[in-house]
Amino acid sequence: MRSRLLRTALLVSLSFVGSAFAQYPTKPVNMLVPYAAGGPTDTVARVVAQAMIKPMGQTVLVENRPSAGGILAPEAVKNAKPDGYTILIHHIGMATTPALYRQLRFNPLTDFEYVGLINDVPMTLIARQNFPAKDFKEFLAYVKANKDKVTYANAGIGAASHLCGMLFMSAIQTDVLTVPYKGTAPAMNDLLGGTVDFMCDQTTNTTNQIKAGKVKVYAVTSKKRVPSLAEVPTLDELGLKGFEVGIWHGLYAPKGTPKAVIDKLAASLQEALKDETVKKRFADLGAEAVPLDKANPAALAAHLKAEIAKWGPIIKSAGVYAD
Ligand code: ASP
Repeated sequence: MRSRLLRTALLVSLSFVGSAFAQYPTKPVNMLVPYAAGGPTDTVARVVAQAMIKPMGQTVLVENRPSAGGILAPEAVKNAKPDGYTILIHHIGMATTPALYRQLRFNPLTDFEYVGLINDVPMTLIARQNFPAKDFKEFLAYVKANKDKVTYANAGIGAASHLCGMLFMSAIQTDVLTVPYKGTAPAMNDLLGGTVDFMCDQTTNTTNQIKAGKVKVYAVTSKKRVPSLAEVPTLDELGLKGFEVGIWHGLYAPKGTPKAVIDKLAASLQEALKDETVKKRFADLGAEAVPLDKANPAALAAHLKAEIAKWGPIIKSAGVYAD
């Protein structure tokens, strides 16, 4: 009798938990961003969060947790309650930080549930407006001749801007002083102010500044030219054969988040990516939403794994460590 009562109580509480998640979300969802407000990751987060509100039926709040290299937000999400109210948006850094940090306090492959891939974003090689080089040839010559005084801004070790800069400097066989920030929004401020010389950053942060003539642009890092910046050559075209750095974004939740919650998040992400305003905003900023069949957990899991396998050896052979 007692055990039957216990079993009934257990079933009731289990079905209560199930139905609680079936109604998910019943309050606003927090989307953590690993970098500073106003930067490229933040821009993508705000576009996606806004478009997810309707399909989620709840507000999706963007919360910036900036840190150099973007390593604090994933850690916070790993340690958050796995109930779907704290999620993470992150870029390629999820795949590069495991090779760069020996003491990373999260494991991208075991500490998260995957929601889906979001978009692909190329990078641009830009410099302060009055940098004394009118094209890439002059830029290269100047950087090589002045390597002791030229400065490169990035968002810390593990950031996309760090990865791009590291590969670029190794391709041109020249090392310059790097200046780390907690995101490329503050780095851009200093570039606009002329206190740092150049950087490599996502088109989502640089397109408007390029179009307004506030920074100089020398190249894009994608294999093909970017439609919204069609006049800008690729580094490959400029002689750095095979140079390609493509930034991608994904959405994550803490490990153990119920499947019903992940399904709701993935379905809402897919709805957001179908939204014409999202497509237009991405296209204007040089980004491209992934095809809808990639905005799901399996596609993100497979991509993350492949990117970790791809970048790990490149980073290890470059011998760069953050800690
Ligand atoms: N663009 C930065 C990076 O280098 C991130 C950011 O500020 O959003 O990874």
